[in-house]
Amino acid sequence: MKNPTRKRILITGGAGFLGSHLCERLLTDGHDVLCVDNFFTGTKDNIVHLMGNPHFEMLRHDVTFPLYIEVDEIYNLACPASPIHYQFDPVQTTKTSVHGAINMLGLAKRIKAKIFQASTSEVYGDPKVHPQPEEYWGHVNPVGIRSCYDEGKRCAETLFFDYRRQHNLRIKVARIFNTYGPRMHPNDGRVVSNFIVQALKGEPITIYGDGKQTRSFCYVDDLVEGFIRLMNTADDFTGPVNLGNPGEFTIRELAEQVIALTGSKSKLVFKTLPSDDPMQRCPDIALAQEKLGWRPGVPLEKGLVKTIAYFESMLRDA
Ligand code: NAD
Ligand code: UDP
Ligand code: UDP
Repeated sequence: MKNPTRKRILITGGAGFLGSHLCERLLTDGHDVLCVDNFFTGTKDNIVHLMGNPHFEMLRHDVTFPLYIEVDEIYNLACPASPIHYQFDPVQTTKTSVHGAINMLGLAKRIKAKIFQASTSEVYGDPKVHPQPEEYWGHVNPVGIRSCYDEGKRCAETLFFDYRRQHNLRIKVARIFNTYGPRMHPNDGRVVSNFIVQALKGEPITIYGDGKQTRSFCYVDDLVEGFIRLMNTADDFTGPVNLGNPGEFTIRELAEQVIALTGSKSKLVFKTLPSDDPMQRCPDIALAQEKLGWRPGVPLEKGLVKTIAYFESMLRDA
């Protein structure tokens, strides 16, 4: 007999870092999961352990093309997330954010599904307000090398709110701040994966600029819990809502922590800061605390230990 609480859930970008953890969590919660991915940055390795589950399905598909299926909920995560990947083909990045959002919103409209958007703290650009509350409109360069991602995600948010206003869609928009954990890409240039891989290989740790810029790092399990709580809020709550860990660290502090936890002999080296690199980023999560009763629980050190273990086994198997 069908489980009455079992939902059919589509996750675009489900073979990626965050998407694969979300697939896993929703299957554990007893749902049917359809993972849609074009494998641009995601891999089958991220979901291979789910393949034998009869409640899990995988479809190779690019969200810039229409998709006609029937589900109850949609999590729209498809989009390369790291600067190296999203700047590789910037036109495709904007198409994925914008055409992808239009197609998924069109789908949600036809089948009356609730739809979640993985937006980003990058919508705040290089912010002039710290920490950033959701009311802050941001400080974004429209013509820089990060713009394909930042403006693509901003336009996707606009589309979500216009589909809500025009077609009364049930939407949930999360603005995700830097997240880390197992299944991050080893070569995508993100600071946590770079530092861990460099430390484990005994290579120099590359600090861009003077290392005084700050970031806040959220462990993936905390973030996924936030996604699910947001999706389950009442229909009148749309977000946007910040999801991230408000603990703020300088990049230099992160490097020192990774060296200490790996016991590495790697030295710090200082390289040029990329253009448009924000000096400070920290979420204001008061809204998430109030509306979702959510705040991250995994401290940086504990999350780093789990992530280091993942990269250790990946390097051993390579
Ligand atoms: P990821 O690159 O691991 O995952 C993105 C997935 O989308 C990949 O599996 C990729 O193959 C797929 N994809 C890309 N273009 C596609 C297309 N046109 N059609 C179908 N699939 C496509 O990145 P992630 O870190 O898991 O990020 C997931 C989402 O969360 C992204 O939308 C990203 O912008 C957002 N986000 C992530 C972070 C973070 O810290 N990881 C921060 C802010 C926002
Ligand atoms: N779409 C889709 N699946 C659906 C319904 C729509 O992929 O089940 C796509 C289709 O490409 C369409 C887009 O979503 O162009 C936007 O749909 P909407 O109904 O908003 O507008 P339309 O372009 O159909 O007038
Ligand atoms: N960074 C660094 N060394 C690296 C990779 C990144 O110092 O090997 C810096 C980068 O310049 C930025 C911060 O770490 O200031 C976070 O970079 P990431 O690409 O992980 O995330 P984002 O800039 O999108 O927040």
